[in-house]
Amino acid sequence: MYQRGIEMSIIETMKNTAFSSAVHTVLNYLEKDPETNFPKAMDIVDKVLPDGWYESQRAAFRRAIVEESNWYQLIQKVYQLDEGVRKTFFQNFIVNSALKGSAIQTEIKQRENCNIPWAILLDPTSACNLHCTGCWAAEYGSKLNLSLETIDRIIRQGKQMGTYMYIYTGGEPMVRKKDLLTLCKMHPDCEFLAFTNGTLIDDEFCREMLRVKNFVPAISLEGFEVANDGRRGEGVFQKVQDAMRLLKEHKLPFGISTCYTSANYADISSEKFFDMIVEAGAVFAWFFHYMPVGNEAVPELLPTPVQRKTVYKQIRKFRETKPIFSMDFQNDAEYVGGCIAGGRNYLHINAAGDVEPCVFIHYSNVNIHDCSLLDALKSPIFMAYHDAQPFNANMLRPCPMLENPEKLRTMVKRTGAKSTDLRSPEPVDHLCDKCEAYAEEWKPTAEELWGERKKGR
Ligand code: SF4
Repeated sequence: MYQRGIEMSIIETMKNTAFSSAVHTVLNYLEKDPETNFPKAMDIVDKVLPDGWYESQRAAFRRAIVEESNWYQLIQKVYQLDEGVRKTFFQNFIVNSALKGSAIQTEIKQRENCNIPWAILLDPTSACNLHCTGCWAAEYGSKLNLSLETIDRIIRQGKQMGTYMYIYTGGEPMVRKKDLLTLCKMHPDCEFLAFTNGTLIDDEFCREMLRVKNFVPAISLEGFEVANDGRRGEGVFQKVQDAMRLLKEHKLPFGISTCYTSANYADISSEKFFDMIVEAGAVFAWFFHYMPVGNEAVPELLPTPVQRKTVYKQIRKFRETKPIFSMDFQNDAEYVGGCIAGGRNYLHINAAGDVEPCVFIHYSNVNIHDCSLLDALKSPIFMAYHDAQPFNANMLRPCPMLENPEKLRTMVKRTGAKSTDLRSPEPVDHLCDKCEAYAEEWKPTAEELWGERKKGR
């Protein structure tokens, strides 16, 4: 069994090496004259790779070129970005992370019999410079921080396991922007992304981003001006517009991150919203379903089945028509085989160092100040995730909390994981009770939509 694992991993490594070499050749070719060379790029790939390897990806790319679709427009948009930033992104994201990194991850996964993540999310600080409704992060400077040395140690350990993607959450990560830039310089082979409110992005920071080349912001937007400022504070929408304008002027890549609720789902899934962020220059948009996490989080903001279905359909529709790469965190599980937490694809480390399976699951057995990353991946709640994934065969019901609350309840109790909520520890029963009615109501719609998906294949 183990021998077969090694053989498979050698084959994977060979495929990755060949693909990596093809990617380098194609990227260099495209850089010379993107407009003219795009249509010829796939001929090179076909010559370099044997038939049958990465067939569906190659077909999708070829279709995008021939049809001059929204995907083709997006690729062209990427080629209008700063050349150094773009080349670094391709090197770090495709070659280091997706090819070299995934081969190492597969090998260690088999050897250690635990999950090894593609990305690590971490909170450099719990502090924030805004006071958003429903968010606990408060005055900046006075809260918990992961030191530069700790983050560096996490990254060094991560790279040994093939992890080259680091994603900052918070708090407001940009409160620590000097340290974030230092980390970019210390690890030029990694790609860094930050979920940020955008208000601390200025001209000087853009110039620093051009210098380090491996930092990409995802700016939070809750909808249009009234909804956004209603939650985040007056004037924040305008500050976000200013940040996007600056990033666009400097030819820097950025994305939008948005959380959909029963209150804003219609705005954020409207054509007007998509057009606004495309026009502003965003190259990706990340949609998150509201999670009732925390003692004070209210279930009333959970979208109804009709509302979630609307978001699901709208995002899929605009994926076919708008030049932006959109991800629907809760409804896209089919593309990644279900829940990606617990280190299967990612994990989260909060500003106190608690290692959590997911950014939304605040329960843990270990703290990174006392253990290695590998120890954390083998801790009881991470192994419970490893052993139980996927949590549901229906990929529109992927979550052990939101759509299958009895599963999280059982895992937390069985593993003895403790609440890591920094402000007010939330008992797992309190959290899961809030999701019970939602899970039941969503089930029939999830079955209907998943049935449609399976028929459409
Ligand atoms: S635990 Fe839930 S929210 Fe987190 S990755 Fe898994 S499915 Fe998504």
